[in-house]
Amino acid sequence: MFLKGKTALVTGSTSGIGLAYAKALAAEGAAVMINGFGEADAIETERAALAAASGAAALYDAADMSKPEQIAAMVARCAAELGGPDIVIANAGVQFVSPIEDFPIEKWDQIIAINLSSAFHLTRAAIPGMKAKKWGRLIFTASAHSLVASPFKSAYVSAKHGIAGFTKTAALELATFGITANCISPGYVWTPLVEKQIPDTMKARGMTREQVMNDVLLAGQPTKQFVTVEQVAAMALHLCRDESAQITGSNMSIDGGWTAG
Ligand code: NAD
Repeated sequence: MFLKGKTALVTGSTSGIGLAYAKALAAEGAAVMINGFGEADAIETERAALAAASGAAALYDAADMSKPEQIAAMVARCAAELGGPDIVIANAGVQFVSPIEDFPIEKWDQIIAINLSSAFHLTRAAIPGMKAKKWGRLIFTASAHSLVASPFKSAYVSAKHGIAGFTKTAALELATFGITANCISPGYVWTPLVEKQIPDTMKARGMTREQVMNDVLLAGQPTKQFVTVEQVAAMALHLCRDESAQITGSNMSIDGGWTAG
């Protein structure tokens, strides 16, 4: 349990990749603060399971990642009630699929706020505590779309490219403080986020469900397999190790070879 005594704050951790991060961190003894939307009973069940797994505290905070003041309040609550956060994973994300000329302006603004700006607000609020401890791990869930584009995902691709740039800037600014900043760039991971975009992609491209799965989602993934949430979480754990102190400013691809082509 190499994370005993550490506190981790993971946004968007009521589902998918974020929940897998929280489970992996708790399994190594970290106290965790989870966040995201969902049904209250289901969230409480996950929270209790995380506390049982870690032997440390686990809390849930409902902050909306599109609201800067709620993000700052969540970090402050984490510091007051759990200590830290020593590890911050900015992971909450949403998707919207549409041609640019029809892309709703409010959807653009929402995706930039949740998928990009929340990482800035989280980092800004967490840095003073990390500097005081001379130890910190900032991890951002980017995407293969931080390196390459796909049509009809203009806001998402822009936000994820932004995360890759923000990661590098944070790494340079924090390099001498024992704080690393890295992003993880999965290819297609089978989660509710991917499931939800199938109908819109069917509409935008005039395809059947099977065509979207095989000809769009897995078309660019040479292994022809979805990435698993556990594989992504394992990378985050690796970045939290003291042995990873020299890994900073990196964009870690886990994409079945997608961006190699
Ligand atoms: P998911 O839909 O399963 O989970 C998204 C999480 O974000 C949920 O907990 C949800 O409640 C939360 N969330 C959404 N809006 C929020 C808001 N305003 N405030 C707080 N929480 C909010 O999706 P996922 O696939 O696990 O995605 C997690 C991250 O991984 C995202 O940043 C996504 O872009 C990225 N990603 C996913 C894939 C994939 O194929 N699934 C690939 C690459 C990157």
